[in-house]
Amino acid sequence: MIRHREVERVSSGAPALFVRLVRLAALSLAPALVALGPAGCAREEAGPGPNGAAPEAEGPGPRRTDTPPPVGIDPTSVGTRGKLVDRLFVFALDGATWDLLDPLLESGRLPHLAGLVERGVTAELRTLEPTVSPAIWTTIATGFLPRDHGILGFDGVPGATMTTLPNARMRRRKAFWEILAGFGIRAGVVGWWASWPADPLNEGSFLVSDRVPYSRMEAAIRRASLTREDAWPPDLLDSLGPLVERPDEIAPAAVRRFLHMDRDEMQRRLLGGAYRMGSYLPEFKFVYQSDRSTVKMARAALAAQPVDVAVVYLTGIDTVSHLYWHFMEPEGFPPQAAPEGDRRRYGEVIPEYYVLVDGYLGDLLDTVGDGTTVIVVSDHGFGPTGRLPWSGGHGRLTPGAPIAPAGVLVLAGPGIAVGPRRLERAHVLDIAPTLLHLMGVPAGEDMLGRVLTEALASDGPPELPRVDSHERIGILRPDRDIPTDPAGDSERLERLRALGYIQ
Ligand SMILES: [Zn+2]
Repeated sequence: MIRHREVERVSSGAPALFVRLVRLAALSLAPALVALGPAGCAREEAGPGPNGAAPEAEGPGPRRTDTPPPVGIDPTSVGTRGKLVDRLFVFALDGATWDLLDPLLESGRLPHLAGLVERGVTAELRTLEPTVSPAIWTTIATGFLPRDHGILGFDGVPGATMTTLPNARMRRRKAFWEILAGFGIRAGVVGWWASWPADPLNEGSFLVSDRVPYSRMEAAIRRASLTREDAWPPDLLDSLGPLVERPDEIAPAAVRRFLHMDRDEMQRRLLGGAYRMGSYLPEFKFVYQSDRSTVKMARAALAAQPVDVAVVYLTGIDTVSHLYWHFMEPEGFPPQAAPEGDRRRYGEVIPEYYVLVDGYLGDLLDTVGDGTTVIVVSDHGFGPTGRLPWSGGHGRLTPGAPIAPAGVLVLAGPGIAVGPRRLERAHVLDIAPTLLHLMGVPAGEDMLGRVLTEALASDGPPELPRVDSHERIGILRPDRDIPTDPAGDSERLERLRALGYIQ
């Protein structure tokens, strides 16, 4: 198995990166702030493992400066009230739409989501145009518009040639998990768009960046191994790296419910042959394994390290919706777009993928446990485009697709109104203030969204007075060098091009 060798490289190949690192813990800050420093980072030798006591070491990550980051207002001086809910689980589904969820819920095929919908609150989640996923997921994470948070699209450096993907260092506003870290609340984040490189959080938190499932896809990517910036604490990769499955490791028996073809055809079309951008089966193989890997990592990490806020992002619904829509719903497409044989082969991919994700939801609900408040959210909806090769789409990026189709929002559990109840209005900007409210932390005055109070239990406390800006509390986001990952970026950009996200 080459996996172990690769993971070992993660632990052994990085000393050069650490030469210039500075120990933030020397900062004279409130205890909660000191926890933001690198005290929880991994050291070179195998530490006590990802979930053991935090080893003493210098911080991970590239290109840290020699001067400590500037600090602002002491978070302990900010009025908080303690968490309104014990635990929160945010399940982030790129591209999920009520148009497909509703009939699937109706037919009983999504039992886990149905359980949340029946006892909780739902909304069509209004979104932003252009519906560029990294921009909107960053809006959901920060509570700011793209022009303010700085992640505008798939190109990392606006105006530059498209050679790099957006990443966390380009983000100019704190993600909710960074805000929460300042208040000592533990988050475990897996797979969120533009969360690479993984910067230190407070002790007990962890982050597995969006690069981890991809970086091991050797058939598809030219980046050979995981690096220390891929997760925090970096030692986490010792246990999680081996869980990542490559596209070629896909199990034919497991995907027979999606792809109706005989064994020979499956062998030839799905398993055989190299990864090719934008063609149905290799893309399926890729996203299926990517989401599967994400869920496996999330379950393992969350089981070993309980957190206050668990966050898991999956990409697959978006990808299969782009590629397979005309097989599911051939009306509105030219007849030759989806011949009978292909409709039989591929017509179930999208609905079955929703069913698969509902199963993942069930698995993750088991992991986070009863008594966890759950938020299911998507960045935008989806619809048919009437043309190929991207037969499903969202927004102006895909001609023919609906403009800014609403995403999905479901809230259920402690602290949430008992349903079923439908919210009149909810916007992607409202997610961050609402999350913070549930964790007893005030939103920022500078955030445009609102706390979705009508979704909350009526006996809950009112919204806390807002703080001026979280950007001025705790460790400030410094002007940072922007790292790039040319191999990983080029592969993902090719995929995004193949899917029609970018030109
Ligand atoms: Zn999206």
